[in-house]
Amino acid sequence: MSTRVFNFNPGPATLPLQVLEKVQAEMLDYKGTGMSITEISHRSPEFDAVVNSAVARVKRLLGLSDDFTVLFLQGGASQQFYQIPMNLCQGKKPAYINTGTWSTKAIKEAQILGKDPVVLASSEDKGFSYIPKEYEVPKDAAYLHFTTNNTIKGTQFHTFPKADVPVIADMSSDIMSRPFDPKPFGLFYAGAQKNLGPAGVCLTVIRNDMLERVPEDIPTLLRYTTQASKNSMANTCPCFAIYLLELVLAWLEEEVGGLEKAEARNQKKAGTVYDAFDKSGGFYKATAAPEDRSLMNVTFRLANEDLEPVFIKEAAEQGLKGLKGHRSVGGCRASIYNAMPQAGADALADFMADFAAKNG
Ligand code: PMP
Repeated sequence: MSTRVFNFNPGPATLPLQVLEKVQAEMLDYKGTGMSITEISHRSPEFDAVVNSAVARVKRLLGLSDDFTVLFLQGGASQQFYQIPMNLCQGKKPAYINTGTWSTKAIKEAQILGKDPVVLASSEDKGFSYIPKEYEVPKDAAYLHFTTNNTIKGTQFHTFPKADVPVIADMSSDIMSRPFDPKPFGLFYAGAQKNLGPAGVCLTVIRNDMLERVPEDIPTLLRYTTQASKNSMANTCPCFAIYLLELVLAWLEEEVGGLEKAEARNQKKAGTVYDAFDKSGGFYKATAAPEDRSLMNVTFRLANEDLEPVFIKEAAEQGLKGLKGHRSVGGCRASIYNAMPQAGADALADFMADFAAKNG
């Protein structure tokens, strides 16, 4: 019998079971090499095939033209917070929309570098519980940066901001969860450990004209041009993380059937969980503004906050793990990325109804 639980952790997060089984099957002998993929050279033909397949899958899934370069970088999404302003400002001020902890950190890095970021809008006035909609993007900004999904507060941009300057987005917690038009983007990035695979690799997609902005006087590995000219292998790349990411993308293409299907699945799952507290007569309360609710991170409180530790503990005892909210905000959070099956959302909704009936 499987001992696996429904894992609602925000990242590192649950991975598709088929992917883990494939990793297990290939671990001791990768495709007849007599070695695991994590024991062979990143310059071997076997690993080259993995990287090239991962790049091709990213391009197919996102519908990217050859105007874009796909990079697999280290340093997490957090490294992009400084790598972006270091590479792409050209003496102009960058513009940011601040929707929470991660955008705040990105703004801070631009400040540390002396790039003088302009914050066009912020939802800090209401504890980052909504997505700001009114702002004007200066035509002379270096770029507009925003965070598509606020992992901690459970808000999400359902339509993307428009700008005359290149748009840049941190898509760490919702990339590949829905289709979008990549054309306005100068760059987008996502730490892999939510929707793409394990921690250790950050998918960064850059439009080729942005590479012309990269200055020469920054460290070699921090220049986008360095990894772009070497297919992400200017130095030893995070081989195992890229290998696993490739398997997750294969699952997304072949089992799920692409991003439109992924979006439909994600809408259904999120609907199941949001319904559970909308129908609870106030026992559970969503923390995000209804129109901005995230399909990936469902954040909520219990009307009686003293019951939250009991809720989280009893849920875990029933195989529903990782429901504690981020340490900075408390409460509860169910992260339901692509790999969470509908059965997990159903089990959570059933548990919520039972818990409310027992404790209401
Ligand atoms: N951006 C977002 C939206 C995130 O959720 C996170 C991590 N939870 C980060 C950035 C930071 O990612 P990393 O730990 O890979 O640096």
